Amino acid sequence: MVRYSEELIDDIKNSNDIVDIVSQYVTLKRSGRNFFGLCPFHKEKTPSFSVSPDKQIFHCFGCGAGGNVIHFISKIENVDFKESLEILAERAGITLPTLENSFDEKKQILKEKIYEINKEVALHYHELLYKPISKPAQEYVKKRKLDNKTLKDYYIGYAPINFNLYGFLKEKGFNDEEILASDLVIKKGNTYIDRFKNRLIFPIQDVRNRFIAFGGRVLDNSLPKYINSPENLVYSKARNLYGLNIAKNSKLEKIIIVEGYMDVISLHQRGIENVVASCGTALTEAQGRLLRKYAEKVIISYDSDSAGQAATLRGLEILNNLGCDIRILQMEGAKDPDEYVIKYGNGRFNNLVENAISLIEFKVKVLKKDLDLENVNDKVKFLNEVAKLMSTIDNKIEQEIYIDKISKDYNISREAIYAQINKLIYSKNQGQKILEKKPINKENKKEDNIPTNLLKRENMIIALLLDGKVEVYNKIKKILSPEDFKRVENKEIVQKLYEEFEKGNSNIDNILEIFNENEKIIGILTGIMAEDNEIKDDQKAIEDLVKNYKKERLLARKKEIIKILESKEKSIEETKLLEKELQNLIINLTQLK
Ligand SMILES: [Zn+2]
Repeated sequence: MVRYSEELIDDIKNSNDIVDIVSQYVTLKRSGRNFFGLCPFHKEKTPSFSVSPDKQIFHCFGCGAGGNVIHFISKIENVDFKESLEILAERAGITLPTLENSFDEKKQILKEKIYEINKEVALHYHELLYKPISKPAQEYVKKRKLDNKTLKDYYIGYAPINFNLYGFLKEKGFNDEEILASDLVIKKGNTYIDRFKNRLIFPIQDVRNRFIAFGGRVLDNSLPKYINSPENLVYSKARNLYGLNIAKNSKLEKIIIVEGYMDVISLHQRGIENVVASCGTALTEAQGRLLRKYAEKVIISYDSDSAGQAATLRGLEILNNLGCDIRILQMEGAKDPDEYVIKYGNGRFNNLVENAISLIEFKVKVLKKDLDLENVNDKVKFLNEVAKLMSTIDNKIEQEIYIDKISKDYNISREAIYAQINKLIYSKNQGQKILEKKPINKENKKEDNIPTNLLKRENMIIALLLDGKVEVYNKIKKILSPEDFKRVENKEIVQKLYEEFEKGNSNIDNILEIFNENEKIIGILTGIMAEDNEIKDDQKAIEDLVKNYKKERLLARKKEIIKILESKEKSIEETKLLEKELQNLIINLTQLK
């Protein structure tokens, strides 16, 4: 049987937006961050079927059905998971491996080897940075004011001029095929050359903290300033963002995108931790989806010379279409965020972040740049383009605010802008009612005699674990074991989550797929995901939650025991056991206080 790799499944999921797909079967209307419609899986008159573009899941609050895009197709087309994957792959133009060219194990093994090589090399270059051989790099690092913690956090390293990386890797037991596949060593004739020589090294890690590639910077002004690993089996430039593995641990409401490694590192060192770099490419859709998983609001802080370029605008458009709230940071007095934050400090940088302008305002600004509004022709052109932009805003109030602002900023009458817009949107359908978010159907939440507040706490704890933070997991596991959970399905879910964390896999994107065979669990999971649980990653809040949960759980059991003890149908043996349990329970309860 052909087994599809995790990467391939991710690829297919990322190429099929759940809102697009569901829309082909269900009429969806936006309400806040989510979409609602009539559930295709049970009969209903008012919509309780929700689709979350952020989380890329659907969930019905009526019948409890849920899942990701693959589950949706599987359910609605009545096909199995594999067939559903095939339908979606075809739709996205992705070629699936067949039995002959089968997702070959060999390739998978090679990939694992490249990860290993990358890790060995990253750690070694990092260690070398502290050795006498790395004097030039040490001086450079000092000049750029990078402190030791930063160097360690980002595994910054040094690739010396005379280093035999090939020999180093051979000694570690890797063979030629593996070494060459890593692209860190280049073969010329019979010699093996290090790709990076006399460069400061920035290892690139993916969200799972795997080392996937490297960037290398010269220590002087020679060119090229940067060289990067080429794309290979483990590295795809368009699918990764530098620093996201670290940024995702900060309490993100928004994420800042900068251009270069140094910008990320420099801001991070000065306490601005929610920063990633696109590393020279215009933002791609895959990067957009990756970002949206972690933050809804995205601040673009590009170097002054690249903001406003067509490629940048396209990237912003992609993010916008993915439902991100995009702001563009306006920076003056420095060429990039690194220089800015060194010159003016993080307080002023944070001000820039707060005052970043919207995509619409930014586009108007870019429009204006090449036009002279004193010139009649230019003014007409400007008005036309502005009207086009304004007509893309669905929200009337928002539209009005922008028009007011543009009218003031560029000294054009509001009437003139409105007249132009009316011309444009004459044919557009109007008056779309925004759907009210349906209250959750309480009947379906009641679960085999488990008190509602207990169940709610269980769900919140699972929601916290789903966030994927290792620190949070460590806290929870100290107090609760999977067995402690009352709902049978929750035990299973927590068990799996614990296993994944133990494997070092805190990125549990594929949690829904782990339970492919169990529709009920998938429904419960999407239900938990679909409910916006208020708890943020706050140490005290988590401790309280977990402790209270445990306490309530014990109290509920205490009640149960007392009830049985008071009833008549029990043997002496049973009574003894129950009394013993009750004693232990009371001890546990006092310890929790
Ligand atoms: Zn339903």
